[in-house]
Amino acid sequence: MLKIENLHAEIDGKEILKGLSLTVNAGEVHAIMGPNGAGKSTLGYVLGGRPGYEVTDGSVTFGGEDLLEMAPHERAAAGLFLGFQYPVEIPGVSNVQFLREALNAQRKVRGEAPLSGGEFLKLARAQADLLSMDQEMLKRPVNVGFSGGEKKRNEMVQMGIIGPKLAILDETDSGLDIDALRVVGDGINRIMRAPDKAVVLITHYQRLLDYVKPDFVHVLSGGRIIRSGGAELAHELEAEGYAAVAA
Ligand code: ADP
Ligand code: MG
Ligand code: MG
Repeated sequence: MLKIENLHAEIDGKEILKGLSLTVNAGEVHAIMGPNGAGKSTLGYVLGGRPGYEVTDGSVTFGGEDLLEMAPHERAAAGLFLGFQYPVEIPGVSNVQFLREALNAQRKVRGEAPLSGGEFLKLARAQADLLSMDQEMLKRPVNVGFSGGEKKRNEMVQMGIIGPKLAILDETDSGLDIDALRVVGDGINRIMRAPDKAVVLITHYQRLLDYVKPDFVHVLSGGRIIRSGGAELAHELEAEGYAAVAA
């Protein structure tokens, strides 16, 4: 589904990703862990196509297509979803408006008919319910005044509505209390655990991985993946720290 080879990327002339390689097959959950400043968020931004991030070497294919040649909206329409470490607030645009526009724009690129207002509301309400999010929050401006945990939960509602093939979730567990962590973990499993879908979970903590069991765990340090293993690697990291594991 996703094949990253020898990826080098820079911001403002500073190289952040330094030869990163990663293959994600359909049906798999990969966790990416690593110290602050390792380049984890940069990886997500480069895959999403955020302006300002320049790829200087390497390749990325998504479903066999050259991802780096695609515009950000084309990547989304092809099934790529990026959950942000710091979800953006959009004053003046309600969650419902935002998500209906996003979903219908993607459907248009794929040659599918747009959902009507009624159809969309039914879908949005069902997803909000599944993530125990108050229906009223669907009407509020996107993330404005939401707590950290509510923003993360809202990201999962967005993911449920959009229905991506590959979700890259950047510290979706940060700011969540124990109950919210379970709800979000269950949401990731329900929405994304399927033979034709895959997840890249960027996280600092083992906690989320108790709910969303990774098939592979990778350590990203200094702009490259320096170690890969199974779920047990996350426990090792938690117990011994990145420095010990990287050594
Ligand atoms: P992580 O998510 O692993 O904590 P990031 O990908 O956010 O790390 O950042 C990787 C490195 O890139 C850090 O050293 C950070 O300071 C640097 N960086 C991020 N954004 C910029 C920028 N706009 N200009 C220069 N350096 C940046
Ligand atoms: Mg960080
Ligand atoms: Mg980060």
